[in-house]
Amino acid sequence: MRATFIGPPGAGKGTQAMMAAKTLGIPHLSTGDLLREEVQHASKLGLEAQGYMKAGKLVPDSLVLAVLRARLARPDATRGFILDGYPRNLDQAKELERMVALDRAIYFEVNIEELVTRLVERRTCATCHRVYNRKTQPPRVPDVCDDDGSALVHRPDDNREAVTTRFEVYQKETAPLLSYYQRQGILRTIPAMGSVKDIQVRVLSEMR
Ligand code: AMP
Repeated sequence: MRATFIGPPGAGKGTQAMMAAKTLGIPHLSTGDLLREEVQHASKLGLEAQGYMKAGKLVPDSLVLAVLRARLARPDATRGFILDGYPRNLDQAKELERMVALDRAIYFEVNIEELVTRLVERRTCATCHRVYNRKTQPPRVPDVCDDDGSALVHRPDDNREAVTTRFEVYQKETAPLLSYYQRQGILRTIPAMGSVKDIQVRVLSEMR
């Protein structure tokens, strides 16, 4: 199964991708996580990407493609994968097709108005990238990951200003991918409001 998850920021793609990847025994490939690792290591690529990310803008395609290509070349990705956050525009979708064909594009349909609060309250484990929400999905101990005890961090682009930019970018650049994958016959739409468990059931049933 080679799938990509598409939806606006905060739709729950990361949480669902992490769970589905575990169930299906394939890697969860988040270009956001890969880029944040580059930023953390202060690599040349990370330093170039950092400003765009902080502002909520798309990182130039060539940089994202470089991290994605390297990740797809690792042996675990040959069995399949779930992409989360890639492609973000039509050019990226075409670049991806040059490397590998997708079986599914899963669209997370959500009510955008509710997402701003979701993002502002979001906290992420610095080590395993598990996502929490201080209001709706809190960890057992505040700001500590249930799974590995690492500190939870608030992403620098989860503030109101960057979030607004990220929604605009999504509408303009990423949403056109829906009709693109519809035409290819691989788009599946799932209602993505409700409990994490219910949504996971819907996700998995579209990935058979
Ligand atoms: P995410 O974790 O998917 O919300 O991504 C966080 C940020 O990383 C985005 O706002 C972009 O700045 C950058 N990013 C992640 N994936 C891509 C991509 N496919 N193309 C361009 N920028 C990306």
